[in-house]
Amino acid sequence: MKKYSIGIDLGGTKILIALIERESGRVIDCIKKKTKKDKGPKNITKKMIEGIEELQANFDEVYSIGVGSAGQIDREKGIILAAPNLDCYDLNIKEILNSHFNIPVFVGNDVEVAALGEQKFGAGKDCNDFICIFVGTGVGSSIIKNGKIIRGATGTAGEIGHMIVDLNGRQCACGGHGCLEAYASRSAIERRIEGALKKGRKSCILEYLESGKSITSSMIQKSIEREDELVLQYVTEASEYLSGGIASVINFINPELVILGGGLIEAVDYFYDKTIKKARAKSLPIPAEKIKFKKAMLGDYSGVIGAAFLEH
Ligand SMILES: [Zn+2]
Repeated sequence: MKKYSIGIDLGGTKILIALIERESGRVIDCIKKKTKKDKGPKNITKKMIEGIEELQANFDEVYSIGVGSAGQIDREKGIILAAPNLDCYDLNIKEILNSHFNIPVFVGNDVEVAALGEQKFGAGKDCNDFICIFVGTGVGSSIIKNGKIIRGATGTAGEIGHMIVDLNGRQCACGGHGCLEAYASRSAIERRIEGALKKGRKSCILEYLESGKSITSSMIQKSIEREDELVLQYVTEASEYLSGGIASVINFINPELVILGGGLIEAVDYFYDKTIKKARAKSLPIPAEKIKFKKAMLGDYSGVIGAAFLEH
């Protein structure tokens, strides 16, 4: 049995490439490459290949390469069909990496690999029925039932971010209106805060904000520590929507556990605490009594660890 796998987490701003010990899930070595300016398929594959070659790895001991990517994926063929944040379309990552390294290559989406990581070595370790929800730029989720990921007929199950919470609501990046993501993501909070600042409302977040830069989860946390009224208002509003979405999912699927992760959850305790309290309160009484909530445990490494365990 080969001891290691390579896990790759391909995101809009960076690629993480790690050597993972299969038995323990331990990250042995990890390389980080920026993708922000060098988008497009050629740059992405070049950086991946470079990164894999830089790892302190004996390739005879490597069982597989797993890639978790943002966007829509054809898992069978190992193709990134469309990842607008990376400017990548129809990229056959499986074929490219396989012909270069001659070991099995598996491709999945970023949320499912993060959930897989949490299932193997994180907050979902002792649980077979749970939902993983990640809140950051968007809101994504993955459903684990009887220990397996539910992918749905077209592989898009778990799109909690596009659950409609207001029929005549805000415009969403998907083209629709009133999606949860337009209310509960970090980007949604950011837009609300920026809109209020433009109208002249005061907030201490301005002290952290460099011109032209966007609001980060840690700026939100610092402002909450100072009990900033404006930031508290919009973070509370987002948690109101997110808890409603989570309660709907609890009622619909009746999982044992909900794991919450992503930048905003990790950085802002107020948001996490408020969201889980309200989600329980908004769920039907019987599932509400039993439901457990946990924070994701693997942080930045959930993607690379999960990707290393992708199989088909
Ligand atoms: Zn949407």
